[in-house]
Amino acid sequence: MNAQQAINSTNIRKAMSVGVLGFGGLGQAAALVLAAKQEMILVAAADKQGYAYSSDGLDARQCISTYQSQGSVGYLEPVGMITNRSIQDLLETAPQVDGYFLALPNLPNNFIPSVAEQFIKSGWRGVLVDAIKRTSAVEQLLAMKEELQAAGITYMTGCGATPGLLTAAAALAAQSYAEIHRVEITFGVGIANWEAYRATIREDIAHMPGYSVETARAMTDAEVEALLDKTHGVLTLENMEHADDVMLELAGIVDRDRVTVGGVVDTRNPKKPLSTNVKVTGRTFEGKISTHTFTLGDETSMAANVCGPAFGYLKAGKQLHQRGIYGVFTAAEIMPQFVK
Ligand code: NAD
Repeated sequence: MNAQQAINSTNIRKAMSVGVLGFGGLGQAAALVLAAKQEMILVAAADKQGYAYSSDGLDARQCISTYQSQGSVGYLEPVGMITNRSIQDLLETAPQVDGYFLALPNLPNNFIPSVAEQFIKSGWRGVLVDAIKRTSAVEQLLAMKEELQAAGITYMTGCGATPGLLTAAAALAAQSYAEIHRVEITFGVGIANWEAYRATIREDIAHMPGYSVETARAMTDAEVEALLDKTHGVLTLENMEHADDVMLELAGIVDRDRVTVGGVVDTRNPKKPLSTNVKVTGRTFEGKISTHTFTLGDETSMAANVCGPAFGYLKAGKQLHQRGIYGVFTAAEIMPQFVK
């Protein structure tokens, strides 16, 4: 082994081995994000019909082309496995994976908490991160704090874009003020077609008047398309039940009723219909009322703004885990760590 190979092999040993559960729009983007990292290595990917696992690392592009052409990463030769209990089987096959990004649909609204329960029951120890969105879903995870602690799991919840990046930005912006009056999150999402992000779109529809998580989950693809036809592909969302509120309240920053989240999703155009931003209004110690605004660059996609933070929080979670700190943490209370 030459010097460079020795360095590479040390890096591989030191790199955090990571699995991605759910291999739809966000899961595939997550795999591509990891492909450029040295500190994390993609070793596992799972979808509804199967999983792929290799302790030496998976090739993101091969996983994606297999998923797109055959419908599951389980068809990836020779490391794939077709099974309808992919998460359970992966956990049994590869108990040594350091951490997972749960890029799963949260349909029904307790699905991701039930996956966390599965991890606890399996005896696995490590770091989990989700990009879950609803207040009631984050509350279910917060209620599992002691179980997660006892299991030796460090669980980072609400660590996507909103909640996630924007909630963390609000927590930071709040520092200028003696009192916070309002946190207003407005997101713009542009995607070329809704099929690339079915769960995201169904979960967004669930926020529209007259819909619920259950009705949106039960909609067929044709029904989703018919609805999108009526709205010219655009979903306008107001006063959403988004966990940014409970996360900022729990972090002691502002009462949840002062946090609002809304946005516009264009499912037929990758250009953002508006610039995603968070506005934090408060009173300084001198009595001045002011607003800080943090605006994301329009060129950054939803996938970039979800997957980047998710891995940043996974790295932060790993540091907590190494110090023996287990339980559940939100994006508003921990600073994400940049993954090299
Ligand atoms: P998607 O519909 O594109 O893909 C879902 C994937 O999960 C598919 O690969 C599917 O096979 C897999 N899956 C479904 N059930 C499974 C099971 N039982 N076991 C294993 N795999 C299973 O989803 P998406 O649009 O990428 O969204 C994923 C999640 O990310 C959603 O919950 C969405 O709300 C969330 N999200 C969060 C933010 C944020 O800012 N916080 C933004 C966008 C999306």
